Amino acid sequence: MGPIAKLQCLACKHTEYCMSTLGLGELLVESCPRCGGDMAVVDRGLPSSWARVGSVVENEFSVVDLIAYEDRAEFEVEAENPGRSFSRVLSKLQKNGFVGVLRKRGDCLKLQVFRSPRSARDKPHLNILLLLTTVITTFGFSYFLIFERSVPYAALFSSSLLAMLGAHEMGHKLAASRNRVEASLPYFIPAPTFLGTLGALIRLKGPIPNRNALVEIGASGPLLGFLVAVLLTSIGLMFSEPGGEPLIFTCPMLMVLQLLFYGRIPSGLEQSPLVFSGSVMMVITSLNLFPAGQLDGGHVARGLLSRESHYMITRAVGFLLLFSGFIFPGYPFWLWGLLIILIFNQPHGGVLDDISELSPFHKHLAFLTFAVFLLCFPIPWGG
Ligand SMILES: [Zn+2]
Ligand SMILES: [Zn+2]
Repeated sequence: MGPIAKLQCLACKHTEYCMSTLGLGELLVESCPRCGGDMAVVDRGLPSSWARVGSVVENEFSVVDLIAYEDRAEFEVEAENPGRSFSRVLSKLQKNGFVGVLRKRGDCLKLQVFRSPRSARDKPHLNILLLLTTVITTFGFSYFLIFERSVPYAALFSSSLLAMLGAHEMGHKLAASRNRVEASLPYFIPAPTFLGTLGALIRLKGPIPNRNALVEIGASGPLLGFLVAVLLTSIGLMFSEPGGEPLIFTCPMLMVLQLLFYGRIPSGLEQSPLVFSGSVMMVITSLNLFPAGQLDGGHVARGLLSRESHYMITRAVGFLLLFSGFIFPGYPFWLWGLLIILIFNQPHGGVLDDISELSPFHKHLAFLTFAVFLLCFPIPWGG
């Protein structure tokens, strides 16, 4: 790194540090980026916190240019393998309370460094309270509305649904911690619907370092939830007979399992809590895997796509689902489309290193997730 000058605007006091050989007291006329006033060299060298950051960056990159302010610094850098260098710099920065972003501007690589905001502390009593409430609502609503006041059926339904939702969220959490992204405990969402819940979610407390991590974190939840759903549905099918109540929805995976256990696809299902919760979970998994916004499928898609094409697809998915209301007016797909349009009305924030591409392994992981999306895709049925 070359010599650094501290420049201050004589009019508005805007301060910045940049590479310059100007001497103390020298003037840069009309160069203040904020007010256009004159800037003077008031000091030489970087303040100690940015100097430390600078030496961390210089260990991995060659620094071509630098501009720093009180709260952030931007390095123009070069490296043979920017992705690898960045991930090493990032882990050192994070230990010191900073976070970095790698972006391409024209032909230049820009590494921006910010002070990372303090992450809020977990309040596990809220997670526990929500879990207990959801146990009560999933049990209560299914007891009255689905299983005609059968305690064992409602208990089996409630516990299996919570287990699958829990597995889904644990999948996200494990992948997050593998990629050193802090994540909250799962929040279960109780709701006065006949299922008693709107699912569960976890909150990521830090930014996602790169595309590989984004795909891992997005895919691991649905994949783990799907595996447990297939397992529990299979157990349910083993202990029930075909026939009975007609279904409202089905999905290809449920049909495959029915063929496997029954040798045919019956028009209805005997009331089985496990088969019911398992197929509900598959449909939830599929809804979550639409390649849109910040849905799990949206994260995976953002790993494959640029910011712009991802946003275009998000809008397209939203409007397609909304217009599907004209074709299937009796089914709530249009509502999902409306939510996607309203909630994800801004491009996905992306990852800190937007330069490095997905690894072949993570591409396979993304396509596996897409297969699960299709296998769980809800098909209006009977009802
Ligand atoms: Zn100024
Ligand atoms: Zn998820």
